[in-house]
Amino acid sequence: MRIVLKVGSSTLTEGGQLSLARIDALAELMASLHPHHELLLVSSGAVAAGSGVVPGLSRENTADRQAMAAVGQALLMRHYAKSFEPHGIRVAQILLTKDDFNSFSHSENAKSAIGTLLRHKVIPIVNENDTVVIDELLRGDNDQLSAKVAFHFDADLLVILSDIDGYYDHNPKTHPKAKRLSCVHTISAEALNALPSPNGDFATGGIVTKLKAADFLMQRGKQMFLASGFDLKPVRRFLLEGAQEGGTLFCPR
Ligand code: ADP
Repeated sequence: MRIVLKVGSSTLTEGGQLSLARIDALAELMASLHPHHELLLVSSGAVAAGSGVVPGLSRENTADRQAMAAVGQALLMRHYAKSFEPHGIRVAQILLTKDDFNSFSHSENAKSAIGTLLRHKVIPIVNENDTVVIDELLRGDNDQLSAKVAFHFDADLLVILSDIDGYYDHNPKTHPKAKRLSCVHTISAEALNALPSPNGDFATGGIVTKLKAADFLMQRGKQMFLASGFDLKPVRRFLLEGAQEGGTLFCPR
């Protein structure tokens, strides 16, 4: 099976800084999946990784944020390369924009490069190219970028790892009695058009961008699994044993 995993800023950061322990845990999870599946990773975290590295850059200013992302992207990749190394896994950096999927030649070139990397057991790590497009910087669009990556590069499943362990019938941060939904087949227009409700300093998307990603894939006959990026046991069990003990599976009927 070809699987795209997407990890958000809130999972990758702790106290505003990149959490190397979480990157290690993710690498460990992916290393255990690697013998069984073809894996791609879509990773946010470039701004957090670049935060505080160049004195005088402010997160409030978009050009400064782009500069932080450019510095941080290189550091982020260094951390990934280091975390995957003990597992004998090489990683590759792919920077894309949504527009690349509107260009036949761009997406075909990327597809063939990714196919070659996967045949050689290299894990492609994709992020938005924040130097030329700033959707993710402003709106957390890596959720939707990951859905496009999954669809255009022929993945069977997108897994979004978040600070929340699934999709709830109400926002669990404001409704303590909210219930997690294990399986979702359709998403209402109202839910898709709700205002973003991100959680945390570096998080930008909230649940809405995840629902849009799920909707995009379900409309095209594909599945998405939303699970916790903090406790990786449910996603591990789901991907290795097919058992669902947490998370939300979005699958078309
Ligand atoms: P990430 O950085 O992992 O992409 P976000 O913080 O952007 O994650 O989005 C997840 C957040 O969305 C949750 O922590 C929660 O506060 C919020 N949220 C709002 N409504 C819901 C809902 N119905 N189910 C789950 N999470 C929700």
